[in-house]
Amino acid sequence: MMQPVGIHHITALSGDPQATLDFYAGVLGLRLTKRTVNHDDPGTYHLYFSNQAAEVGTHLTFFPQSNAPRGKRGGGQVGDVVFAVPPRSMAFWKRRLIEHGTKYHVEQRLGESVLWFKDSFGLSLGIVERDVEGGNAWDGIVESQYAITGIAFATLLSMFPDHSKQHLKRTFGFKLEDSDAAFYRLNGTVETGGELHLSRTVHGRGIEGAGTVHHIAFRAANDDHQREILHALDGQNYRTTQIIDRTYFRSVYYRECGFILFEVATDGPGFTVDEAFDQLGAKLTLPAHLEKKRQRIQSALRSLEIQKGYLEKPSQP
Ligand code: ZN
Repeated sequence: MMQPVGIHHITALSGDPQATLDFYAGVLGLRLTKRTVNHDDPGTYHLYFSNQAAEVGTHLTFFPQSNAPRGKRGGGQVGDVVFAVPPRSMAFWKRRLIEHGTKYHVEQRLGESVLWFKDSFGLSLGIVERDVEGGNAWDGIVESQYAITGIAFATLLSMFPDHSKQHLKRTFGFKLEDSDAAFYRLNGTVETGGELHLSRTVHGRGIEGAGTVHHIAFRAANDDHQREILHALDGQNYRTTQIIDRTYFRSVYYRECGFILFEVATDGPGFTVDEAFDQLGAKLTLPAHLEKKRQRIQSALRSLEIQKGYLEKPSQP
């Protein structure tokens, strides 16, 4: 069986949690699929946004912190997250962004028209039309005929682009499919989340903070596949973290040769380990070791107002 080569999820930093929720679920119409905390910092939410089926490759997640200092997009980071929308829905999205006071501009990238915009914290986002099989059945805030189907591609801003290109090919099996003077296009094996644009420009080092991407996770089909990837990393003298149980997947982290924080995450066990599929995101879920501190954690977090259409079923207290 062909191993999935592609993005598992992307995690970014933002400011106010409610504003984050209202933009990604309320304006962009994604499904809130998990409301948990940053396992390494339980005072901070970890919010997951996905397609209706909550599929790997469609997750954009956030660590929102009110009053977090703004970061600076730059080298050693993922620079843009670009969503796929169904063909002939660009006019809808232009209208929708304008209605919500979000400015955009259209610019070509590797022969494709991209609608570029930012969230209110400065994170660089885009929308491209892609004919994705099955689409996204989520009739949340945005009707499913226009709904974002997942991540079309992410832009990597490496401090050493050619080294990063080799590393992505050798470690994960991405293939160089196209390039121009500014970007390499690398493709994996999956339709959603299977594309990376690697900037050929060496950017000055970025600064971590609100409006920047924290890390990008790549898919490991299962524990065996993850071990294979770890073996490949070992062969390149990379030092990774231990395998960490993130409840919904098992992860290792390391900084690749272009200084971008990479994660290798297993596809399973998935989001339904602690919530029914139709209840995803309806309550604050905590990993087992934090469950005994639930009351303290919950009272320290600002409560979120969940609008109709953010979840499949109404929110629970
Ligand atoms: Zn992650």
